[in-house]
Amino acid sequence: MTFLNQKYQNLTPYTPGEQVNEQEYIKLNTNESPYPPAPAVQKAVVEASHSLNRYSDIAVEVVAKPLAQYLGVKKEQLFLGNGSDEVLSYVFQGFTEKGIAFPDVTYGFYQVYSGLYQVDATVVPLKSDFSLELKDYDELSGTVIFANPNAPTGIQLAQGEICEFIERHPNRLVVVDEAYIDFGGESMVSLVDRYPNLLVVGTFSKSRQLAGARLGFGVGNEELIADMNRLRFSLNPYNVNSLTQAAGGAVLQEQEYVDQKIQETIQAREWSKLELTKLGFEQTDSQGNFLFAKHPNIAGETLFTALREKKILVRWFNQPRTKDFLRITVGTQEQMEQLVTALTTILEEVDA
Ligand SMILES: *Cc1c(COP(=O)(O)O)cnc(C)c1O
Repeated sequence: MTFLNQKYQNLTPYTPGEQVNEQEYIKLNTNESPYPPAPAVQKAVVEASHSLNRYSDIAVEVVAKPLAQYLGVKKEQLFLGNGSDEVLSYVFQGFTEKGIAFPDVTYGFYQVYSGLYQVDATVVPLKSDFSLELKDYDELSGTVIFANPNAPTGIQLAQGEICEFIERHPNRLVVVDEAYIDFGGESMVSLVDRYPNLLVVGTFSKSRQLAGARLGFGVGNEELIADMNRLRFSLNPYNVNSLTQAAGGAVLQEQEYVDQKIQETIQAREWSKLELTKLGFEQTDSQGNFLFAKHPNIAGETLFTALREKKILVRWFNQPRTKDFLRITVGTQEQMEQLVTALTTILEEVDA
């Protein structure tokens, strides 16, 4: 027996990457930062904990002000959410009357939210090299959403192409999910003044060490943001809790630390790409904090399992187009060296 509404009974929920004991595993499966937040962030959270008897600030001022400044936008052009997942959820819930379209190989939550909000979703295949061709969306109607750089491929779309699409379709909302933009690619944020039909979505989870705090944002035209707030204030005005607000505010005062970790990640990524190529892997030229790689001699699932036995956790997606691949989060340089050592051993065993 179920009490769940009929319309939700066939939902396929999102499958998050495993969270495991980090003492035991090298965790390269959920694209988090391998580094802890800067000490000042931890301190700010402890301080904020003294006021947990009060509701959180609905304006999220401590984050909104420095974030608006950092991004070069007005506070009124900024929406803050409980992770960017929540921001995306509002997009699917409230801005999809004429449907929504997204690539076949992309962030899994787009499909999940389409199911949850029963949105008319069109899934558009990427090209055979996993590149995104926006012309493929010209004949459709309604909202378009894609990640840039895309996940799990890491492939980046040129800003000019996105601008041309937005200009060709002034009556369609274009949502660019920039979860990985700090690791490569050109942000669209500076263009929200020019395009009222552009929403850029960002997160503190990947490049700012705050995956567990749940803090994401949307940047867009003031009217668009006001509409999103209409939804937010109809569900949960206190969506960003006060500990997270303190953490987010503090992170924005530690930009030097954040930038340094981004540079370390990019260096480790490029080093790992070369090493994997030497081992015979085929890869996309990922601009994210992850690699997307397959080996001609060994199935993705086999490799995933073999790594798991060696206590290295990566992500394997059991989907027709991606089942040969692994998505490997870029950890510290040391972790990536351990990964390469493990892969070398596994491949030697296959050859033997
Ligand atoms: C990780 C990720 C998100 C979600 O990030 P949160 O802010 O942690 O909810 C959104 N989009 C893409 C493409 C991601 O990879």
